[in-house]
Amino acid sequence: MELRLANGKTLRLVQGDITRVAVDAIVNAANAALRGGGGVDGAIHRAGGPAIMAELDRIRAAQGGCATGSAVVTAAGNLPAKYVFHAVGPIWRGGAQGEAEQLASCYRTAMRLAAEHDVRSISFPSISTGVYGYPVEQAAPIALRAVVEALKGETSVETAIFVLFDRATFDAYAQALESIRASLE
Ligand code: ADP
Repeated sequence: MELRLANGKTLRLVQGDITRVAVDAIVNAANAALRGGGGVDGAIHRAGGPAIMAELDRIRAAQGGCATGSAVVTAAGNLPAKYVFHAVGPIWRGGAQGEAEQLASCYRTAMRLAAEHDVRSISFPSISTGVYGYPVEQAAPIALRAVVEALKGETSVETAIFVLFDRATFDAYAQALESIRASLE
């Protein structure tokens, strides 16, 4: 499923494994300690190999972890990409603790890093909607709007792909994308 913007930029939704999709930059749903976790983070480290964690060890030694809503950059090891942007999503605490702003900030930060690294294609997982418990029906429109806004602006990114692991997550993003499409028309 795809949304083509007036400026020719494309936002695409696919169901699948983010470690199998070739792009310039893969966004990871990391944790604030920048230590390996399960879910998409575990899959990225398994497929990418130990070089990614070795680089995160150096980043951790230099600056500690990473703030929620922000991201750090590593190379992509054996993944079919140049970079991994490790974004730290919010843990869902009921929705009144700034979660929406922090979630939007993850996607905005990743798109800013993409522009800084001259990235043309970027992939995203559904940040925070796994172990971190963010309701996907609420996360999907926040994620998609943040990326659409960045694609409308000055950016090297031509294609942004959301790689959604399971059917329910894909369906939630597909519904949110249809609402955004209607609001653009
Ligand atoms: P968080 O801690 O930010 O919630 P999770 O990794 O637990 O991160 O979940 C985020 C989303 O990533 C979930 O929808 C989960 O199903 C999905 N996911 C897990 N493995 C992969 C993968 N290999 N590719 C893409 N998405 C994945």
